[in-house]
Amino acid sequence: MLQVCVYCASSGHIHSDYFDATAHLAHLLVENEVKVVFGGGSSGLMGQLADSVLAAGGHIKGIMPQFMNEVEWGHTGVSDFVYTETMHERKAKFLEGTDALIALPGGPGTFEELFEAITLKKLAQFTKPIIILNTRGYFNAFNLLMQQAVEERFMPDELKHLFTIVDSPEEVLPAIHNAQAWNKGLHDAGSLR
Ligand code: AMP
Repeated sequence: MLQVCVYCASSGHIHSDYFDATAHLAHLLVENEVKVVFGGGSSGLMGQLADSVLAAGGHIKGIMPQFMNEVEWGHTGVSDFVYTETMHERKAKFLEGTDALIALPGGPGTFEELFEAITLKKLAQFTKPIIILNTRGYFNAFNLLMQQAVEERFMPDELKHLFTIVDSPEEVLPAIHNAQAWNKGLHDAGSLR
């Protein structure tokens, strides 16, 4: 059974297209018997993801620091929960046993999780596909930032293969299956500096 970790927004003050795309993706994941791991939150796209996976009869696991659970940010419908001491520990657990990462639109928390995963992959500490769902072109600016990093030679062009940006939920699972294998060792990573 494929397991994916989904990074996404805690904010609920966002366009309905973001909720629709999240619900659509959740249905596709359940239909394809994919186990979902997420941040455990009940608000924003995290809440939508969990609600939709559960409504479709799928399996979802939340990983949340204890301090967030204490202020009741956890999704009460999710029964499979892991509580961590720190945010760092939580991010490490997101990656354990996952077959891919999916980043949906989000705020600084989502960006931080996504950038850490990309950095770890660059250093060959994480090798699985990273798929970014570009609903409403939300990640266009991110793409430009990465292009600028390549143009200004902060990053070799090859590193654009660290992640795949797709526009619709239907493209997410094919993108996972078609992602370029990333099995660079640290020696290769060194040559990519
Ligand atoms: P953001 O993309 O900034 O909304 O952050 C999403 C991430 O931030 C989650 O994975 C959590 O680490 C954290 N987070 C921020 N607010 C909440 C919340 N209300 N409930 C759960 N997690 C939250």
